[in-house]
Amino acid sequence: MKRVYAFNEGNSEMKDLLGGKGANLAEMTRLGCPVPQGFTVTTKACLEYLQDGDNLSHDLIQEINQAIEQLEDQTQKKFDDPEKLLLVSVRSGAKISMPGMMDTILNLGLTDENVDKLAQLTQDERFAYDCYRRLLQMFGNVVYEIDMSLFEGQLKQIKDQHHLNFDHELSADHLKELVKKYQAIYTQELGHPFPQDVKEQIYAAVRAVFKSWNNKRAIVYRRLNNVPDDLGTAVNIQEMVFGNRGETSGTGVLFTRNPANGQKELYGEYLTNAQGEDVVAGIRTPMSITRLKDQFPEIYQEILDLTSQLESHYHDMQDIEFTIEEGKLFLLQTRNGKRTAQAAVKVACDLVEEGILTPKQALLTIQPESLHTLLHPAFDQAALKSAPLISKMGLPASPGAATGQVVFDAETAKAWTDEGKDVILVRHETSPEDIVGMNSAKAIVTSQGGMTSHAAVVARGMGKCCVSGCSELDINEDKRVVTYPGGSLHEGDIMSVDGSTGTLYVGEIPTVASAANEYFDQVMEWSREFAQLKIRMNAETATDIQNGLEFKASGIGLVRTEHMFFEAERLIAIRQFLLAQTASDREEALAHIKQFQTDDFTNIFKLMDNKPVVVRLLDAPLHEFLPHTEAEIKQVAQELNLPFDQVSDRIHMTKEINPMMGHRACRMGITYPGLYLMQAEAVIQAALAVQEQGVNVQPEIMIPLVSTKKELAQLKEAIKDHLDKVLQEVGAELTYTIGAMVETPRACLVADQLAEEAEFFSFGTNDLTQLSFGYSRDDAGKFLNAYLEEGILKDDPFQTIDLDAVKELVAIATERGRKTQSNLKVGVCGELGGDPRSIKVFHQIGLDYVSCSPYRVPIAQLAAAQSAIQDELV
Ligand code: ADP
Ligand code: MG
Ligand code: MG
Repeated sequence: MKRVYAFNEGNSEMKDLLGGKGANLAEMTRLGCPVPQGFTVTTKACLEYLQDGDNLSHDLIQEINQAIEQLEDQTQKKFDDPEKLLLVSVRSGAKISMPGMMDTILNLGLTDENVDKLAQLTQDERFAYDCYRRLLQMFGNVVYEIDMSLFEGQLKQIKDQHHLNFDHELSADHLKELVKKYQAIYTQELGHPFPQDVKEQIYAAVRAVFKSWNNKRAIVYRRLNNVPDDLGTAVNIQEMVFGNRGETSGTGVLFTRNPANGQKELYGEYLTNAQGEDVVAGIRTPMSITRLKDQFPEIYQEILDLTSQLESHYHDMQDIEFTIEEGKLFLLQTRNGKRTAQAAVKVACDLVEEGILTPKQALLTIQPESLHTLLHPAFDQAALKSAPLISKMGLPASPGAATGQVVFDAETAKAWTDEGKDVILVRHETSPEDIVGMNSAKAIVTSQGGMTSHAAVVARGMGKCCVSGCSELDINEDKRVVTYPGGSLHEGDIMSVDGSTGTLYVGEIPTVASAANEYFDQVMEWSREFAQLKIRMNAETATDIQNGLEFKASGIGLVRTEHMFFEAERLIAIRQFLLAQTASDREEALAHIKQFQTDDFTNIFKLMDNKPVVVRLLDAPLHEFLPHTEAEIKQVAQELNLPFDQVSDRIHMTKEINPMMGHRACRMGITYPGLYLMQAEAVIQAALAVQEQGVNVQPEIMIPLVSTKKELAQLKEAIKDHLDKVLQEVGAELTYTIGAMVETPRACLVADQLAEEAEFFSFGTNDLTQLSFGYSRDDAGKFLNAYLEEGILKDDPFQTIDLDAVKELVAIATERGRKTQSNLKVGVCGELGGDPRSIKVFHQIGLDYVSCSPYRVPIAQLAAAQSAIQDELV
């Protein structure tokens, strides 16, 4: 096994082995971009190390040593030759980019001895000691886990002592003094000094990066982003170039297009006389990349050329790190740039327009899940005008509109959110430790840092509203108050955040649904063209249906009739039915309910011209409709004019230990035959009425929770007979189908038999998951988290389909069903119908459609298209 690859041995296809950073450094080297030389230790070597314990294997050490020799040859520099001193960075890089999650060490190779030599050679003592103090700091923190604040404390003390604001104002003498203090921290904290053997430094750094794969931040990040735990990280060892060699040097980050809105323009920030992460650390406020044009015009042009080369090569917008050393440009990283959904749809369309991508490739650049931010509400413009302003000085780091209570730390953000509050996390700047709190907050606001600060990058990744670098905020974390020019807010006060403009307001501002734009429409049009799955919506109210139709849902996959029963007047009628003593009372109640249902269905069919509508007959357990407390029972008895005892006895009789597995759904259809007949009749009468108005209706009547062919046959026959009569009476014709909701494991296994009766199938994945695992969805909260944390389950099976069993059940049922009826229409109407990962599975199984909530229709549509496109690629 080869454990080490020089940059000129790899390429961008090798991300599994070299990690994203390493593979792209290799690719840029191949393309002839100005990349400092280096080599990559593979992810396989990392996994090997994590398995074997605390030592680098002998083989690995040998390969590293060889690679070092080779690097010394290539660079004509040496670790042990102070005249031509080689220094390197040690950089982590997993297959999937995990911003700020893993650790990097710069300037490795410096020692007490050669630092002075470097000073002499460069005639820049300040520079040499700046490098050394950075090394001590990063190495101490990454390798020995010395608390960063110990170093930061010394740094601050020296700056305060000399009345300096910024790191780069420290003189050579200050830095020398600082190095002494840092070294004292080593002896004090570790009992030994900073290692002076360069190879020891490198081995220790490699081990530390390997280990960082399992640090807490990394684990949390992976969980939040569905990154598998068993990828491991690669380690890149790369010749240093120096942005901290005075005013003709600098370091920066840039996006080849604006990651907030997608505009085609260089977008980024840089600092002169700075190194590494100074730009994103929010220490000094960086300059916009456009300034580079005046300050270093030739370099600006070189960057323009390189960025367009890289964009065409990678077929995507890039996120690039660069360093300028005494007027010479180096690229240190490139990767596909994270962007907001708004930017994603624009960039996708532009890249097609520019001939860099085909529409199919363009669709693959957009994260389906991110689209929800595009469809999210924005502040009501009229209300904004009169809203009391906090500040306009913030940067629009990640779009969106959010209102919530101000909190000043991540723990509080998480705790308050768990209590059901909406919170806005307000901080000087965020750090990777804040990630859980950031994920909980409705929005993130910082007083420092730019558009590429930690807060901004992470918020965009999460699709979360963020305003960064709002310098008018004076945050006092101890007193838990933020002061701004016009006043102050305490913890718990309400703030509204507009991430699209960078503006902050006091109090709550109403929101309106945002209008998606032409780029979004184009992306959706392509998605519909390429998807094989159709996307329906789960909806019963006019508003929901209209929303889903705006997103061009192809039909309704689920009308939940019980949702229509909860209005006061209807609830009385259904209670009357359930509590009735005589057949005539029961019929009277049913007639009453039927009137409501017919009206509801009429409205639905009117809206759904030319599109199929699945109406599910009553599914919910009876007890959901009945009163429980004595007071409620009394009141209901009074309303229905029934004796208290009678009502209370009836309720007692309906009481179930396990209602989800009890007397519900088709089982009620069997035991209360009138109920389903009434509902079916309401569907048909509504359909007839609407059809008469020239609307094309396609009712699909669905019987829930069937598990035997007999129960389906009996119900279907009864309904058909009844509806035949109804149609005969009015002398009209109407096409409708009757199908089965497949949601028990048994139903899946006898699907061939069910298909002898059912005219369609629709999988109810909630119940199917519930019954496959034997987890009650309503109670799973009590243990699911523990299961996920302990890795017993990889994912919540109610959020994304269980690949081992539930997927198999769906596949088996589809196959068996279609063995009986080759063109059987099969869909999904559970929650998983809106989950991109599950949609991929449903596509592969060959279902006809998925159905999800109206706002998820675009997400499902894009996910379905991507599934089809990815199919073609393999
Ligand atoms: P991250 O993954 O957190 O971005 P990186 O490994 O990219 O970490 O490095 C952190 C910073 O150090 C980046 O700004 C990067 O450009 C810079 N850097 C890394 N290696 C070198 C090097 N060899 N020379 C100069 N700067 C470097
Ligand atoms: Mg970093
Ligand atoms: Mg980087």
